Amino acid sequence: MRIILLGAPGSGKGTQGDLISGKYGFPKISSGDLLRQAVADGTPLGRAAEAKMKRGELVSDDVVIGMIKDRIKKEDCQKGYILDGFPRTISQALSLERMSPDGAEIVFDIHLDDQVVFDRISARRICSGCNHIFNLQLKAIGQREICENCGGTLIQRADDKPEVIKDRLKNYHEQRETLVVFYKEKNVYLCVEGDADRAKIFENICIFLDNKIAQAQRTTGTDDCL
Ligand code: AMP
Repeated sequence: MRIILLGAPGSGKGTQGDLISGKYGFPKISSGDLLRQAVADGTPLGRAAEAKMKRGELVSDDVVIGMIKDRIKKEDCQKGYILDGFPRTISQALSLERMSPDGAEIVFDIHLDDQVVFDRISARRICSGCNHIFNLQLKAIGQREICENCGGTLIQRADDKPEVIKDRLKNYHEQRETLVVFYKEKNVYLCVEGDADRAKIFENICIFLDNKIAQAQRTTGTDDCL
């Protein structure tokens, strides 16, 4: 089972990916997280990606495709995986097809207005100690920008600054339509309203996912997820 999460940066793909992973046991693979880790580790891949990421531009298809290809070969992905932030271009989507052409697939496109996305990302902070993500909109007024888990200082990602968010949204819209058409033609596309309570969004996702899994099990005649 391949689960793909489409949606603007900040639309809640990561949160829903974690919830899906927790319930169904598939690993969540976030291309952004893998790239940030590579940058932090100073690997050649990270060095190739860093400048583009800071500017909010897309990292080259070759780099990202190679990285995802290596990741989904791993043992924990053999029954399924959740992709968050990949594919972002039609070339990435086509490569993904070639990497694993068979098996059940479902695409959730989490829809959110640009202004809501903008406000949400501007308020996003990451703990410099434990990497936990916080939204300042949800913190009580007057609360300091300190991590509730480990006491670390909360920082803003360079690409979460307002001027960069605009470019990220522009890039997102340039690529989105082609991907939506591609997955609609494959009959695996579902649009999910993202401006709702995260539990409600997850509930909606689970309804579709349970159906898809049951359907896949009927097709293969096994209890195993694909
Ligand atoms: P994200 O955390 O998904 O918002 O990604 C952060 C940044 O990583 C993006 O703004 C891009 O620079 C880069 N990135 C993540 N995923 C991809 C991808 N699939 N293709 C190209 N660049 C990506």
